[in-house]
Amino acid sequence: MTRHAKNVNLQVAERDFKYYIFDWDDNILHMPTRIHLEKRMPDGSWRPHSVSTAAFAVVRNDPETYRPPGGEWANAFVEFQDAAGESESRFLLDTRTSLERVMAGALAPGPSFETLRETLREGRLFAIVTARGHESESLKKAVRLFVDVVLTRAEREEMMANLRGYRACFDGRTSFGTDEEELTYYLDLNRYHAVTNPAFKRWMAESSTGTASSEHAKQFAIRDFVEHVIRILSRAGSESLRRPISVGFSDDDIANVRAVERYIQEELARRFPGIKFCVYDTSDPALPDGRKVTVSGQLDFGF
Ligand SMILES: [Mg+2]
Repeated sequence: MTRHAKNVNLQVAERDFKYYIFDWDDNILHMPTRIHLEKRMPDGSWRPHSVSTAAFAVVRNDPETYRPPGGEWANAFVEFQDAAGESESRFLLDTRTSLERVMAGALAPGPSFETLRETLREGRLFAIVTARGHESESLKKAVRLFVDVVLTRAEREEMMANLRGYRACFDGRTSFGTDEEELTYYLDLNRYHAVTNPAFKRWMAESSTGTASSEHAKQFAIRDFVEHVIRILSRAGSESLRRPISVGFSDDDIANVRAVERYIQEELARRFPGIKFCVYDTSDPALPDGRKVTVSGQLDFGF
């Protein structure tokens, strides 16, 4: 515990409850991670050919020309997994490369980059939900890196004041840990789901009866986050559940956007009638924050 007075923003108690779920690749950051394929040459032979996630979205529909090495998709996506014995996750490494390029002005940030920055600065709850297969911990470390690299000193101090404010209002705390301890507490409170990770798949299989498609996995991860948020708010007292709650979801993959819209309409809106759900389709890079779609909920308070 620190003895000297710290800035504590108690105004957070008056705030709306606004939470976000972010896809990572081409939504937060354009990553250098490559998908390893083979491409058919004019003479009919196959040559190694690696593509970006953005290019893959196009060539995946052309199985005559592109195939995974050895016919195994696992071989194509080796860079999207953590490997045993590596000193740092490929995800963290690629995130660092992208963040450095964005900060140097050499790479455009993803459409939801600024929303993540604002979410962190405000100390709001969020989830990262990606089709990658890394460990949850690897995603968390990448978000921590985002805090360290992207937030200015002033933004970081504002974030810490907000985090202490939430600790005071939600947990009744009157004294606080070091900045490092409070930041760790906050980052641990959020959700990091890589839906093709073996542990995630096992957990999903144990908790549900549905099929394990990637779209279904994203739906599962979103429901988990909404239930997680409700649990945290309930802990703070029933009064807080009467205030407007909104949950936003952003993804640049139109198939995921559609699947999540459907899932909200068919299931989440019924289960959580008090929550406003917004979906941001960020597939068009010309639109900075993406196309906003309000899927359910009546109130509009500047989400
Ligand atoms: Mg994406």
